[in-house]
Amino acid sequence: MFEKKSVEDIEVKGKKVLMRVDFNVPLEAGQVRDDSRIRAAIPTIEMLLSGGARLALASHLGRPKGQYAEDLVMDPVAERLSVLLGKKVSKLNSSAGREVKTAVEQMSEGDLLMLENLRFEKGEEENDSAYARELAEPFDLFVNDAFGTAHRAHASTAGVAAYIPAVAGLLMKKEIEELSNCLENPQRPMSAILGGAKVSDKINVIKRFLTLADNLLVGGGMANTFLAAKGHKMGASFYEKDLLEEAAELIKEADESRCRLMLPVDLAVTKELKPGSYSEVMAPSDIDGEWKAVDIGPETAALYSGQLEQSEMIVWNGPLGVFEVPPFDNGTEIVAEAVASSGAYSVIGGGDLVAALEGLGMSGEISFISTGGGATLEFWEGKELPGIKALQDK
Ligand code: ADP
Ligand code: MG
Repeated sequence: MFEKKSVEDIEVKGKKVLMRVDFNVPLEAGQVRDDSRIRAAIPTIEMLLSGGARLALASHLGRPKGQYAEDLVMDPVAERLSVLLGKKVSKLNSSAGREVKTAVEQMSEGDLLMLENLRFEKGEEENDSAYARELAEPFDLFVNDAFGTAHRAHASTAGVAAYIPAVAGLLMKKEIEELSNCLENPQRPMSAILGGAKVSDKINVIKRFLTLADNLLVGGGMANTFLAAKGHKMGASFYEKDLLEEAAELIKEADESRCRLMLPVDLAVTKELKPGSYSEVMAPSDIDGEWKAVDIGPETAALYSGQLEQSEMIVWNGPLGVFEVPPFDNGTEIVAEAVASSGAYSVIGGGDLVAALEGLGMSGEISFISTGGGATLEFWEGKELPGIKALQDK
């Protein structure tokens, strides 16, 4: 349930508003390559501007580690936002201090400006209270719309809330509602699909879905680790050798739970991971030597699809194969088609899976696509995210 205050619960007219956004977009030759994160924040921006706020946007971009970096200034992001909104976006060269204070004092209602990359300041990631206070100083209200960074306790996600009232933006609110809906109102049968590289990244999510879902379908590098834990050699496949005991433990937990844990029964294998390289389909027990398992096989894809067709709710994180190297995006594609044709309510999260489904032209088939990677996983684990905790209760 959504129990935090949002921009819908307050009067913003005339207020000086600091809004944290996740504009950590991919750049190419100094230009924004993909502006979906910018577009995702526009409903909140437009609502605040039309409500008469004086609005300053703040984001991080890349990993400058507390130092100025010429190639990570926010200028290209401000330019793209300006085009998208059809409105001037003034860009400042600092994120806090005198320049910001003066600029905010001169703003009129409905004006918009963008602060410099927050991570040019050491105090941001350290959640330094002096920096958080300086960030908050020119403003009356803090709006957090950066769900993708909500799992970090930084000055601009958590610290700043100690000094000015903090509420959720529309994107933040939608993310919390959609993701908690899966946890609180599972529609049965509920299937969770987990793929991606590592079991170690996702142990707590696996555990969570083992207690919540009816089926847990595993693919990707993660499946190799489970198969190795069951005693398969797995050849030259990627898997986590130091996680075999943990994986065996999870298999045991699954046996004792109501959830059916499904592992691949066949895999696409290759000796050389290159686009279009020679590949075969093998049962897990046959994989040895130089063979690497890089995707789920056709029988597994069909088995998983059958399970998904009967599901009412589907949550999915992580691609089921090395989707970057076709044809090893096949398994992910077939399963995405099954998700689409099942008619189930579907929610996906994870940077790589979202990119994979976009590349396959399948993202329009999903009910809700979370903008968080790590934040989505931590939310599903059941952790309280610092950026959400900092918001005022209703
Ligand atoms: P997400 O970002 O969706 O949470 P992850 O970051 O956990 O996903 O994992 C994505 C990565 O997993 C991709 O780069 C993909 O190539 C890799 N991967 C998937 N299947 C395999 C596999 N069988 N062997 C090695 N890597 C894999
Ligand atoms: Mg990833």
